Amino acid sequence: MEKNPVIDLEAEKKEILKRYRALLTVCRRRLEKGDKELIRKAFEISLEAHKDMRRKSGEPYIYHPIAVAQICAEEIGLGTTSVVCALLHDVVEDTDLTLEDIRGLFGDKEAKIIDGLTKISGVFDQSSSLQAENFRKMLLTLSDDIRVILIKLADRLHNMRTLESMARDKQLKIASETLYLYAPLAHRLGLNAIKSELEDLGLKYTESEVYHEIEQKLAESDPERRKFINKFIVPIKEALDEAELKYKILGRPKSIFSIYHKIKTKGVPFEEIYDLFAVRIIIDTPVDREKADCWRVYSIVTDFYHPSPERLRDWISTPKANGYESLHTTVMGPDGKWVEVQIRTHRMDELAEKGYAAHWKYKEDGEERESQLEEWIRKIRELLESPEQNALDFIDDFKLNLFAEEIFVFTPKGEMRTLPANATALDFAFDVHTKVGEKCIGAKVNHKLVPLSHPLKSGDQVEVLTSVKQHPKEDWLGYVVTARAKAKIKNALKEEKKKKAEEGREMLERKFNHLKLDFTVQNINLYATYMKLPSAQELFFRVAIGMLDLKTVKNFVRDKDKKPSKQAAKPESKQPSLEQMVSNVRGKSDMLILGESLDKIDYKLSPCCTPIPGDDVFGFITINEGIKIHRVNCPNALALMSNYAYRIVKAKWMSQELLSFLAGIHISGIDEIGLVNNITKIISSELNVNMRSISFDTNDGTFEGTIMVFVHDTKHMTSLMNKLRKVPGVVSVTRIDGKS
Ligand code: MN
Repeated sequence: MEKNPVIDLEAEKKEILKRYRALLTVCRRRLEKGDKELIRKAFEISLEAHKDMRRKSGEPYIYHPIAVAQICAEEIGLGTTSVVCALLHDVVEDTDLTLEDIRGLFGDKEAKIIDGLTKISGVFDQSSSLQAENFRKMLLTLSDDIRVILIKLADRLHNMRTLESMARDKQLKIASETLYLYAPLAHRLGLNAIKSELEDLGLKYTESEVYHEIEQKLAESDPERRKFINKFIVPIKEALDEAELKYKILGRPKSIFSIYHKIKTKGVPFEEIYDLFAVRIIIDTPVDREKADCWRVYSIVTDFYHPSPERLRDWISTPKANGYESLHTTVMGPDGKWVEVQIRTHRMDELAEKGYAAHWKYKEDGEERESQLEEWIRKIRELLESPEQNALDFIDDFKLNLFAEEIFVFTPKGEMRTLPANATALDFAFDVHTKVGEKCIGAKVNHKLVPLSHPLKSGDQVEVLTSVKQHPKEDWLGYVVTARAKAKIKNALKEEKKKKAEEGREMLERKFNHLKLDFTVQNINLYATYMKLPSAQELFFRVAIGMLDLKTVKNFVRDKDKKPSKQAAKPESKQPSLEQMVSNVRGKSDMLILGESLDKIDYKLSPCCTPIPGDDVFGFITINEGIKIHRVNCPNALALMSNYAYRIVKAKWMSQELLSFLAGIHISGIDEIGLVNNITKIISSELNVNMRSISFDTNDGTFEGTIMVFVHDTKHMTSLMNKLRKVPGVVSVTRIDGKS
C-alpha cells in the first residue's frame, strides 16, 4: 500500500479480469459441463472476500489465489475441484467466510479440502509454535486427500516466486522451510518441475551470491553449449528420421541447485562439472510400444557414441516409486565429453514433470502405478499413527525417506519390494511385517548368511530368519534407515520398558510395605525426586533392571521428614525457561551486532560451521549455551530455521579488523617437493595469518590437507584461498564447515 500512494482501481480491475481469463484458458482443456460456472463462482467469492486486502508487494490479494489456481491447473494438471479450492484457499483463514459457508456454496468435498488447507496454514505464518508439529499436521492431511498437499505446494511455489517483497528474515525462514521439506515432498510426489524450481528459488534466497554466480556462468557458457548439442544430435536425428520415429530433442542445462549441490558435495569448480546439461529425446509412440521404441532409440544413440557401462539406468522396466519412468545413459560425445542422454515417451515426460496428478489423465494403464502412490500414502499414514513419536524425530525420519534414492530387492518368492538406498536386512524385515521385523535374527542375502545390519543392494534376494526368542534392541535403531522400521522399533522398546516398569512397580511396592511406608502416588514421586529421576515410570524401570539399589528406600524413609534441603530445589529455579531466554534476547535488540563487543552479549560462534565476519549469519538461542552464531549455509541451518523459527535472532557483523576468527580450508592436489613448505609460508608470512593446525595426507602422489587458520573476515579468507590456489601442485582449495 505504501508503495502505491495513487492506485488506479480501474486498471487493477482490468488486470484482475485478465488474469482470471488466463486461468480459464488454462483450464479449458478439461472443463466439463458446469465447471466454468463453478470456477467463476469461486473466483467471485474470493474476489469479494479479499477485496480489501493487499499483498506485501502492494498488489491486490486476489492475484495470489488466481496464480495458485493456475499453477494447479497448468503445472500440476489438477482438475476443477482443485482449481475451485485453490481460489478459495485463503478465504476461511483470512476473511469472514466460514467452512460452513463453503460447504453450503460448494459441497462437502470442497469444504474438506479447504479445511485441510486452513489447518496447515500455520506452517508459514506462525513464528511462535513448533514447526515440526505443524509439518506433521500437514502430512496428516495427506491421508485425507492428496489434493490438499498438491494445492499447498502450488501455494508455496507462488509464495516463493514472489518472495522478493518480503523482509530478509522472513525470506530466510520461508526459503529454508522450502528446501527442508517442500522440495523433498514435491520430489516424492514426482513433481519434478516444481521440485527444481522450489530448490532454485530456495537457493536464491539462502545463498544468493552462489546462486547468481552459477546463473551467470550458465548464461555465459550457453552459446558454446548450444553449439555442442547441435553437433551432438546431428547423426542421431538422421537415424531417428530414417527409423520413422516421431520425436523431439531437447538439450537442457541442469538446475542451478543441482549444479550447486555437485560443486558442494564433490568439491569441484563449476568449470569442471561435465554434466551441466542432459540431452532429452522424447518420442511419440503408442503405450504398447513404449518400451521397445525407447530401447530402439537407445540402440541408435549408442551406434554413434559409446555408452559408459556403469551409467545405464532403466526406469522403464522398474519405475521409481514416485512414478518416474525414463531410460538414462551417459555416452562419450564429440571432443571427449560425457553426455547424459534421457530417453522417454511423451507420456513419461508429462509424468516426470507434473507427477501423478497429470498421470491420472491416462486412465488406461493407471491402475498399477496409482496403487504405488497409494502404497506410499498408506505407509505415511501408518507412521503418523504411531502414537507418541516425537514430532521432530518424525520429521527427521520422514525426510530421510523423501530424499533417498531407491533400491529394488526381491523376496524368496520373487516379489519385488522398493526400499530406500542403504536399507538393511532389518529394514527389509520390518517392510515385510512388523512381527517379522521384531523377531528377525539375521537374513540370507542371495543365499548367503548375513547379519541384521547388512546393507542391501538393488537386485538382492532376501530371506529373513526369525526366532521366537528375539526382541527388538536399543542398538537396532542404528541398523535401520526407514522411518517405518525406526518407529516400530521405538514403539516396541517403549512397550518393553512399560512391561518392565510394571515388574519394578511390584518390587517397589513390596519394599515399601516391608518398611511400613504407604505406597501412594505422593510417596512414590517424593522417592523419585529423592533419587533425582524424572518420573515414576523411570523409577520403576530402574528398579526392575537392577539399576537402582532398593536399599536406598531405607535412606529415603530416614531423610523424608527432615526439612527439605534448599540445595535440591535451587538449580531448577535458577535456570530461566526457554521462553524467558527468548524474550530476554529479543527484548534487548532486534538484531545482534557481532564483533563490536564480544563480551557484551553472551554468544558463541558455532563449531559446526565456524562463521567469520562477512559470512551471512544468524543467532540461535540454545538451552544451555546462550546464543550460538551459525552461517546461513551451515549444514544445520535449514533444520534449525525450519523447526525452531522462534529461537532465531537476526545477526550481522560489524566491520572488524582487530579480531581473528577460526576457519577451515581444504586443499588437494599433486604432491610436489616443498609443497607443504610453500603453503605454510604463504599462510604465515605473506598474509600474516595465524595458523592453528595443519594436517596433510599423501597417497600415491596426490595429497589432501586441512588447515585451520585465524582470519579477519570473508575478504581476508578469499584472498588467502586465491593465493593458495596459485601454489604449484594445488588443484582445489575450498572452505570447509566445522573443524573436521
Ligand atoms: Mn496462500
